[in-house]
Amino acid sequence: MNKPHRDHGVLVVVDPQNDFCSGGALAVPGGDEVVPRVNRLAREFAHVLVTQDWHPPGHASFASAHPGRQPYETVALDYGPQILWPDHCVQDTPGAAFHPELDLPGAELVIRKGFHPAIDSYSAFRENDRKTPTGLAGYLRERGFDTVTLCGLATDFCVLYSALDGREAGFGVRVALDACRGIDIDGSVEKALAAMRAAGVELI
Ligand SMILES: [Zn+2]
Repeated sequence: MNKPHRDHGVLVVVDPQNDFCSGGALAVPGGDEVVPRVNRLAREFAHVLVTQDWHPPGHASFASAHPGRQPYETVALDYGPQILWPDHCVQDTPGAAFHPELDLPGAELVIRKGFHPAIDSYSAFRENDRKTPTGLAGYLRERGFDTVTLCGLATDFCVLYSALDGREAGFGVRVALDACRGIDIDGSVEKALAAMRAAGVELI
């Protein structure tokens, strides 16, 4: 932890996509504000990775796939409780594209998640069944990276689960809160910060 970021750290930018920004299908309050912050932060890192929520039409996390259900209700899927969302980040649509002002020309990897029709994926490491890996842990290990810094959207879902899973996979994890924004359902941001602190995530 005493070494500068450039030595070991990798910046993972979580889901900086149009649907999570102003005017998007699942807009995170202040979501756009992260874009210039992410662009600035990325200049401090030698390695930048990006995640991209990437759902097929009719994905199991969409309320529209569950007759009679509304967004933000919770349903039981095969792997457990799942919050239902408005249709968002559908593969190859403008909503799934990265924010146009995102400026990460040196990004080395885009890791897509949530493409299995029946499984949602908040975490950059592991899908919501808590079993299906995205491959990120193997990628980081093979490249010799032992610490990641996370930023992006949303603090209380994809950033949170990425941070917890990163710790569980044995990585040092920092979260750059200034370059994150949360959805905040029933105090979920405060709960997320507490859970991350408890798991040994460094909030910076
Ligand atoms: Zn999603």
